Amino acid sequence: MKPLLTVIVPAYNEQEVLLEFHQRLSKVFDDLSPELDSEVLYVNDGSKDRTQEILDRLTEQDQRVSSIELSRNFGKEAAMTAGFDYAKGDAVVIIDADLQDPPELIKDMVSHWQQGYDVIYAQRTEREGETWLKKATASAFYRLISKISKVQIPKDTGDFRLMSRRAVDSLNRLREQHRFMKGLFAFVGYPQKALLYHRDARAAGESKFNFWKLWNFALEGITSFTIAPLKLASYIGFATAFFAFVYGAYVVFKTLLFGESVPGYPSLMVAILFIGGVQLLFIGILGEYIGRIYNESKQRPLYFIHQYHQAKSSRRD
Ligand code: UDP
Ligand code: MG
Repeated sequence: MKPLLTVIVPAYNEQEVLLEFHQRLSKVFDDLSPELDSEVLYVNDGSKDRTQEILDRLTEQDQRVSSIELSRNFGKEAAMTAGFDYAKGDAVVIIDADLQDPPELIKDMVSHWQQGYDVIYAQRTEREGETWLKKATASAFYRLISKISKVQIPKDTGDFRLMSRRAVDSLNRLREQHRFMKGLFAFVGYPQKALLYHRDARAAGESKFNFWKLWNFALEGITSFTIAPLKLASYIGFATAFFAFVYGAYVVFKTLLFGESVPGYPSLMVAILFIGGVQLLFIGILGEYIGRIYNESKQRPLYFIHQYHQAKSSRRD
């Protein structure tokens, strides 16, 4: 029996591109068919357009198509998790539906997998159709997180990748609620290989990620993978207390030696505002972590499934 490749495609309001995407993917499947059986698992993340209709038609027409419809929009992270839970392949690929990730690259990924790599991730050389601001903030974020966290997250790397069965099984054991996938991918380890590629602009439809979402994404990345901000709080707190003590001693001795002089309103205000500001800032940072502990402690399922259509060709259970 040939090994099985499962390609997971999270899709949220992708009616404009799905058919074109599926055509290109089918072509790749045909090219791979001498060596591999392939199937695609679309995860409809609660789309409000005709995505499900298109998926139903594809499942009907093409033996190699499975689809999961989530009960509502849970976000790409949860949609991918559902895909990884249901994927049966010996190798599993995760790819965006909007053709920013070229499906043709899967062929190269497969050949590296056959050479023994467990994780083959696509690394962008170029980002088209994205503003300089998005590029600059993204690169600053990768630099920051690689400095402050222990897992090495490769830069310019999205979710597009191939993972071996054991890498997927390992990933599936990480059930945390706050799913910073890039970090989780890096956390599982195993022999990894980067494939350079040129990231195109979206074929049609529009990006679901705005700046607010990206900011939260960055916050998620930092809080899930490092407690460096909490340590920073201790250090800054320590330094502030030290200077406050020195200055306090100076004020006391000055008063003892020379008596009470001018009222000292400015220095008082500066001290109060500074210490108050530092305290509020770090209470906020504490809050970010406590909020995440709260969310994790509820242990809610990561997604719910409304319906699941298994591919007609599916032979394994
Ligand atoms: N996506 C999803 N759920 C969401 C948002 C996005 O499943 O809530 C999917 C989307 O359909 C696409 C992929 O995630 O296949 C990447 O989304 P998008 O292209 O909007 O992100 P960008 O490429 O702009 O970062
Ligand atoms: Mg995109």
